[in-house]
Amino acid sequence: MELFWHRRDLRAADNVGLAAAAGIESDNADRGPAAPVFVFDPDVLTHASDVRVRRLLDGLAALREAYRERGSDLLVAHGNPETVLPRLADALDAERVVWNRDYSGLARERDAGVRRALDAVDVAREAHHDAVLHDPDAIRTNAGDPYSVYSYYWKKWTDRAKDDPAPAPTDEALVDADRLTDAVDAIDGTDGTDGTDATLADGGVDEPPVAAVGDLPTPADLGFAEPDADVGPAGTDAARERLDDFLDEAVFAYEAERDFPAEDATSRLSAFFKYGEIGVREAYAATEAAMAEAESGARPDDAPEQVEEFQQQLAWREFYTQVLFHNPEVVTANYKEYEEGIDWRDDPDEIAAWKRGETGYPIVDAGMRQLREEAFMHNRVRMIVASFLTKDLLADWRHGYDHFRERLADHDTANDNGGWQWAASTGTDAQPYFRIFNPMTQGERYDPDAEYITEYVPELRGVEPDLIHEWHELSPTQRANAAPAYPAPIVDHSKRREEALAMYKRARGED
Ligand code: FAD
Repeated sequence: MELFWHRRDLRAADNVGLAAAAGIESDNADRGPAAPVFVFDPDVLTHASDVRVRRLLDGLAALREAYRERGSDLLVAHGNPETVLPRLADALDAERVVWNRDYSGLARERDAGVRRALDAVDVAREAHHDAVLHDPDAIRTNAGDPYSVYSYYWKKWTDRAKDDPAPAPTDEALVDADRLTDAVDAIDGTDGTDGTDATLADGGVDEPPVAAVGDLPTPADLGFAEPDADVGPAGTDAARERLDDFLDEAVFAYEAERDFPAEDATSRLSAFFKYGEIGVREAYAATEAAMAEAESGARPDDAPEQVEEFQQQLAWREFYTQVLFHNPEVVTANYKEYEEGIDWRDDPDEIAAWKRGETGYPIVDAGMRQLREEAFMHNRVRMIVASFLTKDLLADWRHGYDHFRERLADHDTANDNGGWQWAASTGTDAQPYFRIFNPMTQGERYDPDAEYITEYVPELRGVEPDLIHEWHELSPTQRANAAPAYPAPIVDHSKRREEALAMYKRARGED
């Protein structure tokens, strides 16, 4: 028997580590069955948020269901994995503990601790590449360096052969539920009073057992509240349904439509990818099938480019994963060093108005309110609100990153950080500092009928789109007549644009 430790891979299908632990391939047929476990680690929970805890619990409930359908179950443990995993391995008489790699800096430190703890008690352990098609070390420049320019990275990424999806374990390849229960009952001191640090984060509740079979906590048990936002569906079945729907039609117009937030033109798979509820090999293989259809002539002539544009987004995810892997400090530090450091203005009232979606710039406010309601924001609008925070409010991107981190269900350290540093012109392959989005023109171009804006900003419903897109130019009387409850712009974009240019030039030592 082997213990499989789920982390950011809440699925049984196309899971490289689980397939190995379960022994379902001919070259590892002597292994398995696998006992799946998830560990609530108090240290990790200190970085979580209400939205993400809710989304995680939904994903775990779906995973548990998938195991139950196969006669197994999910072990749920609490505590420091360095303590919990050796104990569980002992209780289950597991030969090995297996997991998939997580590439962020904190996760790597944690995993090193777990490796040491398992080595100390002579339990074998094994980590697999699973989260991305090409692991962060696999694609390098001809000089052997990691890539910092996406277009070159993409060329190599797309030319490389991709692995097939990993097979899902059969019922027999999983430890059955009764055996899991017996093993957990046999753990000494499951009441958590034997000196181990099996505690919940800030929960203020009685200490739970080290592990229980299928017993998921509530957010309150973990010290979190139910979020106001609807975090959307979770689990592999929902992810597959979404992927199938998207690849049925929308992908063939993806490049043309993806920038229009009122259209349902993107996959909305990001939270599923974040929690690993769909395997990237499975998703990529499905895009290749769509590509074959696009190339068969059954679709418009430009269909292959449309599908390729979608594959490019999967490659962006892997690009940022390798940026973070090779530069773990970017979580808090600028990737690009400015000579003098950027002298951000950081006005707390302006930042607060941005967070509330009350800047008086309609597309910005619609995006920030979508975030609040749906724990999601359309990509084009993420770019607009990020540009607005950094280049109109002259606020440090870290304020925006922290807010997104708290509010996005799909918050992913690598992608979120990559997106923010791109917008702030501090990142790898970032937007040049002098490219500053005009939030009014962006709104007009990408939401011409103000459909997206009025969906999220009710104060502007019934107002002519032309007036909405000229909101910054209207007089106070015109604004009061059109939409009295909607605020006037809190800053003057053209003035702030000049100030932003000056701020960046100073930082570059150019003034
Ligand atoms: P689709 O357009 O259908 O793309 C498919 C998948 O490709 C996405 O699910 C995602 O996994 C990946 N992807 C798409 N665009 C990007 C990108 N620019 N960078 C990296 N991966 C990408 N994405 C996150 O997953 N988590 C984040 O925390 C995050 N924060 C962002 C912050 C800012 C400031 C910006 C500008 C972008 C951020 N993105 C983030 C990237 C992007 O906005 C989302 O991945 C996308 O909007 C999710 O919607 P979708 O699944 O419909 O995407």
